[in-house]
Amino acid sequence: MISVDEARERILERFQPLEPRKVPILEVLDRVLAEDIYSHIDIPPFANSAMDGYALCSGDTVGASSKSPVTLKVVADLAAGHTTHLKVEPGTAIRIMTGAPLPEGAEAVVRFEETSEGLRGGWGPTVEVYKEVSPRENVRPAGEDIRRGELVLAKGTVLRPQELGVLASLGRPEVEVIRRPRVAILATGDELVAIDEEIGPGQIRNSNEYSTAAQVIRYGGVPVRLGIARDRAEELKAKIEEGLAAEVDLFLTSAGVSVGEYDVVKEVLASEGEIDFWQVNMKPGKPLAFGHIQGVPLIGLPGNPVSAMVSFEQFARPAILTMLGKRALEKPEVEVVMDEDITGGARRGFVRGVVTKRGDVYHAKPIGGPGGSGILTSMVRANALLIVPEGTTLVRAGERLRAQMLDWPEGVK
Ligand code: AMP
Ligand code: MG
Repeated sequence: MISVDEARERILERFQPLEPRKVPILEVLDRVLAEDIYSHIDIPPFANSAMDGYALCSGDTVGASSKSPVTLKVVADLAAGHTTHLKVEPGTAIRIMTGAPLPEGAEAVVRFEETSEGLRGGWGPTVEVYKEVSPRENVRPAGEDIRRGELVLAKGTVLRPQELGVLASLGRPEVEVIRRPRVAILATGDELVAIDEEIGPGQIRNSNEYSTAAQVIRYGGVPVRLGIARDRAEELKAKIEEGLAAEVDLFLTSAGVSVGEYDVVKEVLASEGEIDFWQVNMKPGKPLAFGHIQGVPLIGLPGNPVSAMVSFEQFARPAILTMLGKRALEKPEVEVVMDEDITGGARRGFVRGVVTKRGDVYHAKPIGGPGGSGILTSMVRANALLIVPEGTTLVRAGERLRAQMLDWPEGVK
């Protein structure tokens, strides 16, 4: 028996980030930047107005107030996206909209609200200014956001919507990011039928293919579905060949890895590559296989649907994230106060639970109802895995545990 942490370490040391690809920026969300992004321009490229108002010489407004306004001659009206050859001379102003370039001669903008236009509406050949403005007031200087030559986004950055916006403002329709891993998903077992097949006596549908594929997608991989291999060596070998031909970066198999039982899966995996069969000190999800087939890593998940999902979270998720170039591999965890007692055992428990937030505190209780590792709807009722340390027989209500969040409780994001 090996610990969860040891299994994880042994798996993760065999993974590394994949190569970069040039990709359109709408496809880079949540992916890792593989190049340093420098700016070849100032952003904004020109000084512009931060407000709708009047561009003027701030010196003209000295002493201006609502009681003693300053009157300026309005020489032009300038909308965003337009320029003017007219200059602002002392005693004059140019009506200006947010984002329009600051005209020559002006070095400040007074907001409409501080002028006769704001007070009475409408504008004309002159404007009264009711407030003293300081130089550069309401002006966004060139390069205020980004300076030409600056390192804007460093290699290794995980790209969010704001980074996409920055790339767009730099005029970068494509960037280098680490490519997504292609993950083969192969279910094994004589009892399995595909989603669209009739169920015969003794058969069940291959649900693992879908929960696993969805987990792969959620964490940034590309599922390559190989379907079902019955417990016959030729079928399994053919599926493995299919996966290798599809140039997958990782094989995920389900079922057939338990110790003790005779299993064609174990035999074939062992003969096709170098695979170890482990007993991991966890519940659910004790059996696990790991190794390589012709250089492609393989994680053999247990067959039970809950065990497969929980094992995926512990072992396949960080492997996929590593291939994606990510460095934060830990599943988000919170500390929870138990609302009910729960029992543990010799193995580390990943207890399906419901976490809620009351005030600033996360509370948790185990999901009610049937909870065997074959009960997939128990995962539907859970939003967290409550981690009961190995060797803990009982956790009482009021005590604290760590919880791995599968999703965040309503209202927390
Ligand atoms: P095994 O690991 O082969 O002993 O399978 C453990 C349990 O998981 C059995 O009840 C199987 O029927 C079930 N199981 C195996 N593979 C799948 C699958 N792909 N989808 C749903 N259940 C499965
Ligand atoms: Mg089986």
